[in-house]
Amino acid sequence: MKVTENLELRDREEDCININPLQAAGRTYPETRMAVDSYVDGYSVCDWCAGALCKMEKPPVKSFLEEVSAFLNMDQTILTNGCREAKYSVLHAITNPGDAVVIDGNKHYTTYVACERARVKIYEVASNGSPEYKINPEDYGKVFEQVKKETGKMPKLAILTHVDGSYGNVVDAKKVADVCKQHNVPFLLNTAYSSGRMPVDGKKIGADFITASCHKGWAAGGGNIGLLSVTEKWVKDVFAPSAKYGVKPLEIIGCSTRGSATLALMASFPRVRERVKHWDKEVENSRWIVKQLEEAGIRKLGVKPSEHDLNFFESDILYKISEKHKKKNFYLYYELKDRGIVGIKAGLTKNFKFSTYGKTREQVEHIAWAFKDIAEKFG
Ligand SMILES: *Cc1c(COP(=O)(O)O)cnc(C)c1O
Repeated sequence: MKVTENLELRDREEDCININPLQAAGRTYPETRMAVDSYVDGYSVCDWCAGALCKMEKPPVKSFLEEVSAFLNMDQTILTNGCREAKYSVLHAITNPGDAVVIDGNKHYTTYVACERARVKIYEVASNGSPEYKINPEDYGKVFEQVKKETGKMPKLAILTHVDGSYGNVVDAKKVADVCKQHNVPFLLNTAYSSGRMPVDGKKIGADFITASCHKGWAAGGGNIGLLSVTEKWVKDVFAPSAKYGVKPLEIIGCSTRGSATLALMASFPRVRERVKHWDKEVENSRWIVKQLEEAGIRKLGVKPSEHDLNFFESDILYKISEKHKKKNFYLYYELKDRGIVGIKAGLTKNFKFSTYGKTREQVEHIAWAFKDIAEKFG
């Protein structure tokens, strides 16, 4: 169906099994869609504005953020325009241009770009490379010492990608936090691919800052929304208000995501809070499908066994088929689509990733069958 002459409506979640890792845990619930629909007009959250988005009582943004702080076991939380703005806010608040910041080799590009924009000097903790791409927590200490040697000071901030979006590796964040504590380096945990899917306990881990992507991991849909949670110690520096407009936090330029994305996040939250308790089922499904695909000769890269719903694969079998199939390297996309599955980037056959997050066991079995069927039929 078209809404205008050249604008099609989208129907992925309604008609297909969508295994795109970017979208799997951002998918909305029916009540989310109702909330979004009623708040879709511009500045809809501002009907009863009392000065700042995060202090709003109606809709109850303020009490919602208190619940989020408790959920993540942090002290205070604000809404941001995505995870990237949350990271940049911390960088901008506590570093000066030229300061050293340590990040991991599996970082998302937005970590790097946020650092660039803050004009800090970037040091990277490399992974152990193919096939595991594992980040070793102790290596943070080595890079801290290198920074000390080169600059005379410890870095101003360390950032860890809790779960990376390429391989779905889960890093032991507590170990990294411990290394940071030993060296007195503030620690930002980027939970774009973890919070909202799996339990994350900020205090237990020892994070100073937690950033989240809610259109990715908290069922907040296609809007643009993230979270920044901090411990009490950092409230003053990172949530500092404007000197002239005392209720407006500087780092989010007063108010951040002023519309339906906020309502989407709030509407989905009861389900998100519940679903993280069933993370073990997600890991079980993930390990099961990896086993099935590996039996068919499609190899998982990254740390094994899988600890996350996102898996990265390498497949000579599927690649070889692309050399003779009439649809060339686009065949896998179309063959999966014919079997009711979307979400693997069109054109990929040798290396690809997908997620089974939120799928029923029957759906996971169907996905495994589809890959095996394609490999057998054309291989
Ligand atoms: C997706 C992703 C981001 C970006 O999140 P936004 O909310 O879109 O800014 C940041 N970090 C990681 C690890 C990601 O996977």
